[in-house]
Formats: sequence, structure tokens, C-alpha cells
Amino acid sequence: MGIQNNIAKFQALLNPYGARLIAVSKTHPVGKIQEAYEAGQRLFGENKVQEMVDKQPQLPGDIEWHLIGHLQRNKVKYIAPFVTLIHAVDSLRLLEEINKQGAKFTRIIPCLLQVYIATEETKFGLDPTEVRQLVTSPELAGMKNVRVDGLMGMASLTANTQQVQKEFHSLKALFEELKVSALPANAQMKELSMGMSSDYEIALKEGSTLVRIGTAIFGEREYSQANT
Ligand SMILES: *Cc1c(COP(=O)(O)O)cnc(C)c1O
Repeated sequence: MGIQNNIAKFQALLNPYGARLIAVSKTHPVGKIQEAYEAGQRLFGENKVQEMVDKQPQLPGDIEWHLIGHLQRNKVKYIAPFVTLIHAVDSLRLLEEINKQGAKFTRIIPCLLQVYIATEETKFGLDPTEVRQLVTSPELAGMKNVRVDGLMGMASLTANTQQVQKEFHSLKALFEELKVSALPANAQMKELSMGMSSDYEIALKEGSTLVRIGTAIFGEREYSQANT
């Protein structure tokens, strides 16, 4: 009841923005994903490869699986056959591996480039200059089994909504800049993945096309249930 109501609430809320909901099911058991599925939800997000690989075969085949967490190159092969969108690509070397695995499974794997927008220290994400370089690089243009569909970012974890808004705004500005610049045939600025349970309202106002909501749908995460 709770999960199904939450799904309905978010679907209605996102509708006017034309944005899509990714239900972030990490640490939650497949029973809860099934519940959300029965409410009509089809896009699910996981942040760990092993957990996604364990859950995927237990659930309906028309689910879109979004890998939203950091991805190590040696794990790309496990998700390459079925993943819908890889959100957190942050290096050319990772793109090269995704391209290689895409070729192996004769498919084109859609990706987003993760942009570092928060003030917090983190190892992950590209700065705007690196994003511009990567998306216009001859190396990417030569990849036949990868497609860059847009950008992804995470705002600072702060109660300062102005700060969060500023960070999302900067990501949207980069997205718009790249949209009108010369991109290779396998890159487009179509998806802007930003917004989580704590900041989705700001993200939607700033132009998000994909919000990644976990806690506000499924409740607190169940670390004892995690498969990893
Ligand atoms: C866990 C996670 C989310 C969802 O977080 P909530 O605060 O539970 O909505 C969104 N994006 C990423 C990258 C995550 O790892």
C-alpha cells in the first residue's frame, strides 16, 4: 500500500515536468520491487553491480535497469547484456570498456557522464572542462557500441537549498551548452539525471529529466537485506 501510493504520487508529480521516475531499489528485496512494478513502475535504479545482477533475473523482463552508482571497469561485463542506462561514467577508460562489452553483446549501451557539481570532496565525477573534452573527443566518436545520452550529477548534501539550486543550475547550463555544440553522432544531450529524495523538487525546477528516488518510495534502506 505504502509503496504503491508513493509511486502514484511521484508519477503525478513528475508528469507536468515531463520527467521520468527511477525508483532506487538498492538494499530492498525483490518483493518490494515487484510491489512498485505492480503500481506501474518500470525504471529501477541500483548502485551495485552484484545486487543488480542478482535481482534482474528474478523480476519481469520489461524492467529498465539503471546503474546509478560508481562502476568499476572489471564489472561492466556483468551488466552489459541488459543494463538500460549507466549513469555515472567518469572516464574515457570506462567508456572504452563499456564499448568493448557492448560489442561483445552486439548492442549499443547508453551512458551518462557524471559531472562533479557538489562542494564536498569526492573521487568521482568529471569537471565541466573534462566533460567538454570527453564528449567531443575523437575516441568517443569512434566507439560504435556506446552512446552518451546526457549528464548526471549529485548536489551537496546540505539544508542550504540555494546552494543545491545553484549546483543543479550549473549542471543544466552545461547540458544546454553541449546540446547546441558540435557533438559526434553517438552523443546527444537528451537526459539530465539529477534529484534524489531530499532535493527532487529543486532538480525538477532546474530541468531534470530523470529523478532517482529511493527513500521517499521504499522507506529507509535495509542494509541487512543487501546482497553485497
Ligand atoms: C541511493 C542513491 C539515490 C537515492 O537516494 P535517496 O535519498 O534514497 O532518494 C540517488 N542517486 C544515487 C546515485 C544513489 O546512490
